[in-house]
Amino acid sequence: MKREFAVIGLGRFGGSICEELSMEGMKVLAIDKNEHKINEYKNIASHAVIADSTDEHALKELGIKNIDHVIVAIGDNIQASILTTVILADLGIKKITVKAQSDYHEKILNKIGAHHVVHPERDMGKRIAHSLISSNILDYLELSEDHSMVEVMAGRRMRGKTLVDLNIRAKFGCNVVAIKRGKQMNVSPSADYIIQENDVLIVIGADNDISRFEKQLV
Ligand code: ATP
Ligand code: ATP
Ligand code: CA
Repeated sequence: MKREFAVIGLGRFGGSICEELSMEGMKVLAIDKNEHKINEYKNIASHAVIADSTDEHALKELGIKNIDHVIVAIGDNIQASILTTVILADLGIKKITVKAQSDYHEKILNKIGAHHVVHPERDMGKRIAHSLISSNILDYLELSEDHSMVEVMAGRRMRGKTLVDLNIRAKFGCNVVAIKRGKQMNVSPSADYIIQENDVLIVIGADNDISRFEKQLV
């Protein structure tokens, strides 16, 4: 069964969500107040309609209540983003995902009923910054305010050594939760696991510990 989504705001972010969901065969209702945007997406989304999402009546008319998951991707107009989220929460939408523009915006969205807040520019900036520290840092993911996860290619300093030799947990307070070798995923590797070139380590820890690990070992 196709899941139903609505994407409000077809900027670069919302537009790309809309395109990808449609390509994956999902039913997508695309909403934007700008006619040009709607023309651009009418052949991509299942439905594309011009509407101002801060108008509760207009959203009701569109049958938004029957939609499983609504994504609010209004960027620069924080007021419109907040108002839209309040209306959706009021209507009892089961899943509301909203793009935040700033940390304050994010705090407000969480208080007024957004179920999931994303901050793509900030998060992508962080990810790219970490990948710039070393070409061996493949990915970086924030898990909470002060914990994160990194995916690192075994550096020169790690190759041929075991987890015991490297003493990562004691030295940096981080945990190697898995090691990928080619297509094989080794979850919770044992202490005597010998790290080889091209092994990819998945490491979890507090931000400052991860940071020390990145600088000294990766
Ligand atoms: P991105 O960074 O993803 O490109 P942006 O930060 O540039 O987005 P905006 O251009 O401000 O974000 O908004 C994205 C889209 O949301 C625009 O196409 C705009 O027309 C639409 N939009 C803004 N306010 C509303 C509203 N009240 N109702 C419906 N659509 C809206
Ligand atoms: P984001 O989506 O990442 O928030 P944006 O698409 O809104 O970015 P802008 O606001 O246009 O991008 O630009 C980002 C920053 O770059 C701004 O702080 C702006 O002052 C700065 N900037 C823009 N042009 C120049 C320039 N020619 N020289 C130096 N700084 C610039
Ligand atoms: Ca933007």
